[in-house]
Amino acid sequence: MADRYLHFSGTAPGRFLTRRLGLPQPARLRRLTPRTPSLDGPLLHLTAGDSALGDTLGPVLAATGQEVTGRADRPAGIVVDATGVATAAGLAEVHARLHPVVRSLAVCGRIVVLGTPPSADDHHRAAAQQALEGFVRSLGKEIGRGATAQLLRVVPGSAAPAESTLRFLLSPRSAYVSGQVVELTDATPDPVADWTAPLAARTALVTGAARGIGASVAAVLARDGARVICLDVPQAGEELSRMADELGGSALPLDITAPDAAQQIADAVPDGLDILVHNAGITRDRRLANMPAERWAQVIEVNLGSVLRTTDALLTSGTVNRGGRIVATASIAGIAGNNGQTNYAASKAGIIGLVRSLAPRTAADHGVTVNAVAPGFIETKMTAAVPFFIREAGRRMNSLSQGGLPIDVAETTAWFAQPASTAVNGQVVRVCGQSLLGA
Ligand code: NAD
Repeated sequence: MADRYLHFSGTAPGRFLTRRLGLPQPARLRRLTPRTPSLDGPLLHLTAGDSALGDTLGPVLAATGQEVTGRADRPAGIVVDATGVATAAGLAEVHARLHPVVRSLAVCGRIVVLGTPPSADDHHRAAAQQALEGFVRSLGKEIGRGATAQLLRVVPGSAAPAESTLRFLLSPRSAYVSGQVVELTDATPDPVADWTAPLAARTALVTGAARGIGASVAAVLARDGARVICLDVPQAGEELSRMADELGGSALPLDITAPDAAQQIADAVPDGLDILVHNAGITRDRRLANMPAERWAQVIEVNLGSVLRTTDALLTSGTVNRGGRIVATASIAGIAGNNGQTNYAASKAGIIGLVRSLAPRTAADHGVTVNAVAPGFIETKMTAAVPFFIREAGRRMNSLSQGGLPIDVAETTAWFAQPASTAVNGQVVRVCGQSLLGA
């Protein structure tokens, strides 16, 4: 269902009218295409206080291939290293660095503030670092013109573990991700031979890949070099085979809730799996008072039960290779809750619980990371079925005043899936344009 308002407000009369009426003015987001492979301008590198990263951030920024400078008239990205900010007074440095330049940020620009994980033994440092979260989330809500703002927490010492994340956040791939806090570990990234095909020689399996977000995830993983196995229910067989053929991958028609689903997956990947994307999901909305037990059970089983079961089985059997990446699909409904979705929101909140609990253990025991994407309003068949007024509210009630596209979720998944994203573990990243729901 096309977003006519987005189109209209981008025309000259539309701009005039929406401005006069004080209506939202969504910018046309700059996503990754062969013509727009990177941001349109230099990166401005600023430091507030003494960096806790030594001299390591500059080379990592330079490795993105973009021009890095300490001064720019119209930067496409601004990176503020605030890892050294340890007191309330020190926060003035953040204001002093950003205040003079924030207005000059290019359309669809990026702001990334680097901080450190909150300290348990220094409450002044913890307060100053936590302050950065409120700062960035507010900045995301006010910068406008398609620009985004994020807080990236890194362990003091080296910026090297942050390379894949900075490449993602400072690129058109993260167009619909804003107001997020990502906390990295100090794990050393696996090397990447070619950043244009970072998933080369990797085998990925995507559930629910016949359409919507799953189809886009499969396509982006294939674009980034992975060999992709597309899984979906047997009823979707035709769409699934077409999808798999287009990507040069293979199709696995299978209901993920089947008792032997994990065994069938293991049989389909004799050399193991490097990337496992749990994307299949369903809704069966009703208010709790009207919800029969089977609607409750179906949603919990597809969205959560099968994810827990197949993850456990594929880890235990060693089907997920060392260095593997597991990505699960939550939802902002699992964070904020939603009228008529007690079953769905419970299942998606459960995914968040699974990711946070399992991630440290799989990293230690299997060298595997586990993360979740939490989409907001994404333009798919699922959301096209939503009644008009609720759909319009979903589209506009976020900092970017528009719905996301399946590719936005796919790009985030592909970042988690990269070999260089070893330090990204146990994270739940919302792909929601900084939705007001649960913000
Ligand atoms: P969709 O309905 O368009 O696609 C889901 C796919 O999953 C379908 O192809 C379906 O056949 C498949 N599937 C369902 N049950 C399955 C099963 N038992 N075994 C195998 N495959 C199964 O949905 P979508 O909008 O693309 O959503 C994809 C994921 O993103 C879901 O987990 C959904 O909950 C989540 N999500 C979507 C949105 C959104 O705005 N569209 C928002 C938040 C979260």
